[in-house]
Amino acid sequence: EEWPKSGTVQLESVTARYDQTLDPVLTTVTANIRAGEKVGICGRTGSGKSSLTLTLFRMIDMFEGVISIDGVDISRVPLTLLRSRLSIIPQDPVLFSGTIRFNLDPEEDSDDDELWRALEIAQLKDVVTDLPSKLDEMVTEGGENFSVGQRQLFCLARAFVRKSRILIMDEATASVDMETDAILQDVIKVAFGDRTVITVAHRIATILNSDRILVLDQGKLVENDSPDNL
Ligand code: ATP
Ligand code: MG
Repeated sequence: EEWPKSGTVQLESVTARYDQTLDPVLTTVTANIRAGEKVGICGRTGSGKSSLTLTLFRMIDMFEGVISIDGVDISRVPLTLLRSRLSIIPQDPVLFSGTIRFNLDPEEDSDDDELWRALEIAQLKDVVTDLPSKLDEMVTEGGENFSVGQRQLFCLARAFVRKSRILIMDEATASVDMETDAILQDVIKVAFGDRTVITVAHRIATILNSDRILVLDQGKLVENDSPDNL
């Protein structure tokens, strides 16, 4: 039930590849992320930022090295458990076909007040209030009846409902406007103040107030320091 309690993430010499026949997309990446730390990840397109976030969910199966969360080696954690305890706002989020309620709370752990609270935090309360069936409104396949920015906000609301200790955000590029970007950052700062938040950013401005910035270059970690020291 409780894991992860604090939200530390440790990568020890992680090398990952999508396929045995392909070159690694991450090479001997070592980093320690403290509980509650706000970490920004940047680097050029194709440098391995999204791949790094995917390894935390074991979406890239082929990795050497050790990733542990609160001291537990994630390769020993059942996939469904692992994926239910970390939250991600992906670069191109896909919602489940089902109601908004189901999208926010697939495990049916929370009452409507909590779901509305999460929608409020994610700046979606007005959007859902305006829908004819509110929380029971159906999301179409993939969530195409919402914009990419709104889908990201739904993922954020879901993370809040789950009370995840670790939130990973893979910022969309052109699809999210500066305003949504700013809203997301503000919301995360307040609602996830004590949680571990890893943000992949394309605009350096987005992560300048992180505690630490990791810079990837061709799958290698080339910087790992506070923004002031970079
Ligand atoms: P961007 O800023 O464009 O989002 P990124 O830093 O997130 O880039 P990744 O998506 O992690 O980069 O890609 C790193 C490398 O892995 C690239 O060379 C990419 O072509 C390769 N790659 C990404 N996804 C796959 C996949 N599913 N199968 C094989 N190779 C992949
Ligand atoms: Mg990416």
